Amino acid sequence: MKIYYDDIFFKHEPRGYHPENPNRLKIVKRALEDKGLWKNVVKPKRADVKDLLKVHDEDYVKLIENSCREERFIDSDTYVCRESWNSALIAFGCAIQCVENAVKDKDLHLALVRPPGHHAGRSGIAFNAPSLGFCLFNNVAGAVVKAKEFLDEVLVIDFDVHHGNGTQEIFWNDLSVIHIDFHEYGIYPGSGALEDTDGSKVNIALPHYSNDDDYIYAWNEVVEPILADVKPKLVLVSAGFDAFKDDGLATMELTEKFYAFAGSRLRDFSVVAVLEGGYSIGLKRGLPAFVEGYLEGYDVEGVRPSAKVVEIAKKLREIHDLR
Ligand SMILES: [Zn+2]
Repeated sequence: MKIYYDDIFFKHEPRGYHPENPNRLKIVKRALEDKGLWKNVVKPKRADVKDLLKVHDEDYVKLIENSCREERFIDSDTYVCRESWNSALIAFGCAIQCVENAVKDKDLHLALVRPPGHHAGRSGIAFNAPSLGFCLFNNVAGAVVKAKEFLDEVLVIDFDVHHGNGTQEIFWNDLSVIHIDFHEYGIYPGSGALEDTDGSKVNIALPHYSNDDDYIYAWNEVVEPILADVKPKLVLVSAGFDAFKDDGLATMELTEKFYAFAGSRLRDFSVVAVLEGGYSIGLKRGLPAFVEGYLEGYDVEGVRPSAKVVEIAKKLREIHDLR
């Protein structure tokens, strides 16, 4: 595994309390250190504005730059400070750098970046969301654009508890970008219904309080046939850990079990995992479980999903013609 990390990300900092704060990365670092996994740390590279413009409109990039200079909130959820511009460029550049390395080096490339990105659409707010949800530039979208230089099809799996509306909007109608999004349906940002697709976007919209077995069942029924069909060399992951039970912003009830399972199911591929959400216990326990699953494998037996999730998976298999 390669860890991409820099203390510079602490400088993107709220003035008062905010769940998306520098302590998140301290939690991750400590959790990986405790497991002896904090090694092979690579310094992230800063992106150029021209890289941002492959994903975002110029007006939006200027709005963010000016807001950082003036330390002006972007919206009620999304703060910036003077240093946020630099952090956001390094986070975006880091995701691109991970792809450049991952196509040559089959491994888990873990981008521990802030600010997060998956809610940021081409010109800001995506799919009528109420806000940018703590995101400035869509880091994983930068990774997708880079990956398209090497691959005919790019696969993104987003298991953050919130719908990756920004990523989905940016690549809507680009059928070469397959985006599978697990999310709690009915919370922020409100998008990502089961039926919503352009042909290559798969919305695993799960009910409140879904647990490990629900997620694992949905993965087996929906993600596995897509992986078998696409046979990706590289998988991009929008890696949020806020679906962990009691992480704080949602009702899902995941534990280490799902994250270890997800990591183990991606062992055959080179993986770029870009940090999205996760605010407390999800970072402490979910993220290391994902890493260990990838490095060591993890077996699951006797999965017992809810009847509702069985129904959802069946519907998704019909919508996307999965066999
Ligand atoms: Zn989230």
